[in-house]
Amino acid sequence: MSHTVGVDLGGTNVRVAMTDDLGRIVSRSRDKTDKTSGAQGVSQQIARMTRSLKPRIGISCIGIGSAGPLDMKRGSIVRSPNLGFSEVPLVGPLKKEFDVPIYLINDCLAAAISEKEFGQGKGRANLVYVTISSGVGAGIFVDDHLLIGKDGNAHEVGHMAIDPDSELVCGCGKKGHWEAYCGGANIPKFIKHELRSKTSAEIVDSLLFKSTNGNLDRLNSELLLRTAQRGDRLARKMVMAMGRYNAIGFANIVNLYDPELIIVGGAIALAHPKLILEPIRNLMRRYCINRIPRIRLSSLGEDAVLLGASVLSRFLGKDLIEPL
Ligand SMILES: [Zn+2]
Repeated sequence: MSHTVGVDLGGTNVRVAMTDDLGRIVSRSRDKTDKTSGAQGVSQQIARMTRSLKPRIGISCIGIGSAGPLDMKRGSIVRSPNLGFSEVPLVGPLKKEFDVPIYLINDCLAAAISEKEFGQGKGRANLVYVTISSGVGAGIFVDDHLLIGKDGNAHEVGHMAIDPDSELVCGCGKKGHWEAYCGGANIPKFIKHELRSKTSAEIVDSLLFKSTNGNLDRLNSELLLRTAQRGDRLARKMVMAMGRYNAIGFANIVNLYDPELIIVGGAIALAHPKLILEPIRNLMRRYCINRIPRIRLSSLGEDAVLLGASVLSRFLGKDLIEPL
């Protein structure tokens, strides 16, 4: 008997959990991601947090679900806009520290694995998990194979171009990407872009404008969705516009991967499922050629990445490359 360790590494928080042979979490720890101790600081933090869980029996492996972009062969995060280092090595330093296999995978892939092992994706060979959060991402199973790619980034759906004439610049620096319209971090820019075609009377009379106390710099995704929820016409129009871009993204996913089920997670979708999912369901047939699958909200909540990361060893050899 031994424990496996699962790590959910994000730009804001890092969470570490120890699971038993049945995949149940037996202990856990959470902290703000350490961005101030150099490129090695993150792996040192994961090592500290793992030791703080005080395993009474041995650790068989550590699985990390991390915000990308990743270089899986180097076992590192590379060029991360969130962490501010050109490379954050994870697998090498942790292997040295614990001398067990260390697996690294994109956090959306870990969530997709989680849905397939523990969630509504059980028994589904063709499954896509989409997160709508500060960014837009996905994890994709086609014919029971997890799509990985040459560097581990085969599923970067948020960076598919959905508008060639767009002026909206994505966090990655490119134009017209899905995430530039629908990722939470970019929604303030998207709203300002949409407001340019509205009359000043329409803007000033809106609940959306009033809820910022007249300062549009206070706009964010939560404010937009909350005022739309309360029936504000202007906010609802913008949520519909955003929904059309989401529908284009979802239709592209269906046209490319032909899934039988799409599971949607991520903070924005989980907080406002009706406002986010309804426009997608209503509009995607305009853009879809393949048969439209069922679209469901994730039921795993915030443990999805942790649980998926803790069972990564099951995918070794089948879909995952050998760790360093
Ligand atoms: Zn992008």
